[in-house]
Amino acid sequence: MRSYFIRIPKLADILFPRLTWRLNSSYVFLTFDDGPDPVYTPAILEVLRSYQVQCTFFLITEKCLLYPELVQQIKDEGHTIGFHGHTHQALSDMTQEEINSLLVLPEILKDVQLYRPPYGKISHRQIKLLSNRYSVVMYTFVLGDFDSTIDHTELMSRMKKIKAGDIVLLHENLKSLKLLQDFLSESPKDKFNPLNRIN
Ligand SMILES: [Zn+2]
Repeated sequence: MRSYFIRIPKLADILFPRLTWRLNSSYVFLTFDDGPDPVYTPAILEVLRSYQVQCTFFLITEKCLLYPELVQQIKDEGHTIGFHGHTHQALSDMTQEEINSLLVLPEILKDVQLYRPPYGKISHRQIKLLSNRYSVVMYTFVLGDFDSTIDHTELMSRMKKIKAGDIVLLHENLKSLKLLQDFLSESPKDKFNPLNRIN
């Protein structure tokens, strides 16, 4: 059985009011987590460029330090960069010192203002701390590009349920790349925006 919500219930806004789950906007916000990646970042950027669509990438410090040129390319092409941790470790597995270290970014990420916790898990106490430095951004729509039981057709039909104001969670992987290609070919390009143009 599926262990995730596709559309996050509005209750989340009430339980976690300091987190951004959706926006009051006419745009859709595509977000890609877990990069940069030497294979998928260039491929995703190429698709976005060909449709003149901009979105948001939540990046991991250790990968940014390995592929700084990809971070620069994401910036140069007008996308927004968010922070997704120094590593992909869950906040619940980190010491207080490690969590405090999330408030300090390397030079390459210094202007970043958005944070998304790995695995979408964050406590009220952690929200309070990290909100001092970032807007903590979650998502409205979890497509399930990480779910091996879901094929492309099913993902596309889920994608069609996206509405204005939705923040869509994708990852830098092959499934999301294919999905992006097909979805953008069927969508008006002025429907999308990176997150910081609104916030
Ligand atoms: Zn992640």
